[in-house]
Amino acid sequence: MLVVPAFRAPHRCSRDRPRRWSAVLATLTSAALCGLDSVPVTIEVSITNGLPAFHVVGLPDAAVRESRERVVSALRESGFTVPLRRITANLAPAGLRKEGSAFDLPLALAVLAASGQVPAERARGWLVVGELALDGALRRVRGALAYAECAAAFGAVAMVAPAACAGEAALADAVPVWPARTLREVCGWLTGCEAPVPTCTGTWDASTPAATPDAGGITFDDVAGQERAKRALLAAAAGGHNVVLVGPPGAGKTLLARAVPSLLPPLTRGEALEITRIRSVAGLLPEGAGLASARPFRAPHSSASPTALLGGGAAARPGEVTLAHRGVLFLDELPEFRRDALEALRQPLEEGTIAIGRASGTVRFPAAFTLVAAMNGCACGRRGHPRRACRCSPEELRRYRARLSGPLLDRMDVQLEVAPVRGRELASLRLVAPQHEAARARIARARAAMAARGPIENARLAPAELPRVAPLTGTCSARLRDAVDALGLSARGYHRVWRLARTLSDLDGVEAIDEQRLMEAMSFRALEREGRTGA
Ligand SMILES: [Zn+2]
Repeated sequence: MLVVPAFRAPHRCSRDRPRRWSAVLATLTSAALCGLDSVPVTIEVSITNGLPAFHVVGLPDAAVRESRERVVSALRESGFTVPLRRITANLAPAGLRKEGSAFDLPLALAVLAASGQVPAERARGWLVVGELALDGALRRVRGALAYAECAAAFGAVAMVAPAACAGEAALADAVPVWPARTLREVCGWLTGCEAPVPTCTGTWDASTPAATPDAGGITFDDVAGQERAKRALLAAAAGGHNVVLVGPPGAGKTLLARAVPSLLPPLTRGEALEITRIRSVAGLLPEGAGLASARPFRAPHSSASPTALLGGGAAARPGEVTLAHRGVLFLDELPEFRRDALEALRQPLEEGTIAIGRASGTVRFPAAFTLVAAMNGCACGRRGHPRRACRCSPEELRRYRARLSGPLLDRMDVQLEVAPVRGRELASLRLVAPQHEAARARIARARAAMAARGPIENARLAPAELPRVAPLTGTCSARLRDAVDALGLSARGYHRVWRLARTLSDLDGVEAIDEQRLMEAMSFRALEREGRTGA
């Protein structure tokens, strides 16, 4: 809006000066999302003489600037007067970029307070967020849980939130949350005509379901045969190793991958809060949902853009790698993913977080997931099939494999070939006893052994730590060095075999790594082995 500065007569004496309608000033506390965190924002509104105008300053984005229109309409529709003066709203700290629509409600309240329509004293110590509809009704905002944690850290006496997301904010169990349906209702609390009724805080249920609903509730009991693959996935789940399954379509790769979340340990309350906060900031939490009770399983399509996969965009939303935090990221048809997106996966795989560069600074999201990838053995997909012959030329095979960079493959501890189970075998396997509970028990034992040595899971052990945590005998050391030449392992691959041998020993309850486990760990390097022999 173009605003012409108000004409002021030259100052002569105090009687000539135009009367200030309101020198200031109403202040209110709200909060801004910054990655997964939220920081307090002070909203100051001053109303002065001048041509009617409404300015929002303090690095607002388009949605915040648009909130002027919603605020003006909501004030009118709720029966209040919009001051026909110059309204200036400042969002402090001014250096922080403000995004989204959560400032609508605090802006409206500050305008009402500055124009003397409601008293502001009671709002001291409140943290207020909410999007306004044009008629004054309140709409949910994303990140309510993050705002509640910010309110607690800031020492707020209460958080005022739209009723549709108040339950989500109450999950933090950190600060009283007052749900509001309309702007008028909050004004009633300010004048003291009505009293807010706090939302009940969510209760935390520690009993995790055996299988993750995200993954379709699949467990090992749903997968017939595939004993070698199951062994590899047990190790992956126990030690936090990344897996790539290689085999023809129909070999059961997807089913195996979907069973992995059911093997991971139950969530702690801290992890559940973290997962719920990520979904809340991503705007994916359904209304009325409680704390996450199961680990995530994310399976983005191979056409996903790097932004969808890694996060970012105009509002810095978390991507699939962050939505899979503390769970499983499943990438089916791995070579079909965009090369730049796969390359960018290296950072979260190494560090467990992802940094997203933005004009206003870097935002860091957590991204500690177990990567389970699946791919065909070759371009025609028949490689590794027991009855169908592959028709790819060596050149086609080389080109197909070359879509995955060496550094990415290097980060996959388990590279496993999976073949379809034969029909006759399948019929007999239906009679096999359930494996799921036994598998979980073994993983729990391995995790206990790991925890006794330190807080870091095997897959993330630093190379300098390995000789202490996973000492090798002279023979084993020599074996591993030979493998470096035979398989053409990089230094990173060398350490990965070592870590996997540690996990396999933990699974079997073996204290020292022996030759058998070391050889087994080396046998899970299918792609490098093939690449070396050119087979
Ligand atoms: Zn082929």
